[in-house]
Amino acid sequence: MKTFKNFIGGEWVPPISGEYFENRNPADLNDAIGRFPLSGAADVEMAVASAQRGFDLWRKTPAPVRGEVMRRIGDLMTQRKDDIADLMTREMGKPLAETRGDVQEGIDTAYYAASEGRRLFGKTVPSELRNKWAMSFRRPIGVCGIITPFNFPMAIPTWKMFPALLCGNACIFKPAEDVPHTGAVLVEIMLEAGLPPEVIQLVHGLGESVGAAIVNHPLIPVISFTGSTDTGRIVGEVCGRMHKRLSLEMGGKNAMIVFDDANLDLALDGVLWGAFGTTGQRCTATSRLLLQDGIHDQFLTRLVDRARSLRLGDGRKEGTDVGPMINEAALEKVERYIDVGQGEGADLLCGGRRAAIKGLEAGLFFEPTVFARVRAGMRVEQEEIFGPVLSAIRFRTADEAFAINNDVRYGLSSSVYTRDVNVAMRALNELDNGITYINAPTIGAEAHLPFGGVKQTGNGHREGGWEVYEFYSETKVGYLDFSNALQRAQIDTYLGTPD
Ligand code: NAD
Repeated sequence: MKTFKNFIGGEWVPPISGEYFENRNPADLNDAIGRFPLSGAADVEMAVASAQRGFDLWRKTPAPVRGEVMRRIGDLMTQRKDDIADLMTREMGKPLAETRGDVQEGIDTAYYAASEGRRLFGKTVPSELRNKWAMSFRRPIGVCGIITPFNFPMAIPTWKMFPALLCGNACIFKPAEDVPHTGAVLVEIMLEAGLPPEVIQLVHGLGESVGAAIVNHPLIPVISFTGSTDTGRIVGEVCGRMHKRLSLEMGGKNAMIVFDDANLDLALDGVLWGAFGTTGQRCTATSRLLLQDGIHDQFLTRLVDRARSLRLGDGRKEGTDVGPMINEAALEKVERYIDVGQGEGADLLCGGRRAAIKGLEAGLFFEPTVFARVRAGMRVEQEEIFGPVLSAIRFRTADEAFAINNDVRYGLSSSVYTRDVNVAMRALNELDNGITYINAPTIGAEAHLPFGGVKQTGNGHREGGWEVYEFYSETKVGYLDFSNALQRAQIDTYLGTPD
């Protein structure tokens, strides 16, 4: 089995502990991908010292030049897209079409960052005084701690690191322990593209050790975290106490609302993709399906037929619709929620159990599951399950549907299928989510738009698009007074004065 290393201090190095964890293919646990470093606080300490040197160098590199490195990273990712997708599916499980999309999101983010190198706009505005200029511009902040989840092994690290680096910061990257190989390949590409070595540090390991060491380190002023709301709370408490700049992207409980007048074929394709794509392990997965009275029964019948016909299997095999769950703990959590839903009186229409795939008996598969007769307030309607489980709820009016959508602690994405433009516009205005799709599923973010959620999904920042550049840079304001006189803001007014 191949042994992987950390990248610290400009070199590939073993962990100080000398210990490793194994990474296995969730479609076949007999397939071992490699041993990865079980690092700790001492490795993080070395990474911080190196990243500070990297930061001193990189912050002085002009932003358009930093952008050129991003462009080369995008070019290399484009050349290697299929190979990266294959190794990503092997360690994460989702089908190749999805992992190719995951790489493409990284490529799009790289090219967006490249072009941002020639913008990074500040503002020049009129001063209230004569012969004085007033302007704002962006400065890098320092070393950024980047902590990422398993479900988008390439896209999410790139959403965070490319804008951070473009702004002139250095990064310490801890990938999720289930997907360390994709993280290692990303860092290799960044180095090959010409990123100065000490600007990026890769420290593998567990959240409670490496993750916590990064979050708690006083010389890492910026933390960007994507993961569960429970972990985010721990990260947030520490960062609040230490006055760190923190971006949190956390859980979701996203609803699709289908009205009687909707194009039902379109809505059916949308919900299958939204609920069971990535085996339901997306922050934006459709986990609640709100069906209006008039179409409720027929839609559910068609949905169950289609859900039963989805092909589970190895994501690297042609024809697979749904891959495995990421690990045994995730699978057991889904099983617990099947019991919870049945205990609450929901009807299990299909799925609800592990699936044994011929030839892949050592894989972590779970059947696409639909619960009906779910009522607002049930746990399966409120809590993030993070698996292929969809809860269907009946509604009568738009007011009722919007209230159900909003009555959860999360607020990432929502989706509305209707042909009524008034209802669609009301949904955009009234649904408490960071993203609302009209006539499209709850998933499908594009790299050049802001991404994130409200309530307990986030803490007000956004990834993606132009907004993320504000998170990774400090605004500085400069005033230049060339009047040769003491001019006093708010006191001297020149109204009616010739000179
Ligand atoms: P997780 O919270 O278990 O882990 C996320 C990362 O945090 C991992 O790298 C982990 O090692 C690390 N971590 C764990 N404990 C830590 C600690 N005490 N200190 C610092 N780091 C720690 O999440 P996961 O299971 O990998 O991902 C699934 C979750 O992520 C879901 O809740 C999903 O909704 C969410 N998610 C959100 C978004 C978004 O943009 N809102 C995107 C993808 C996933």
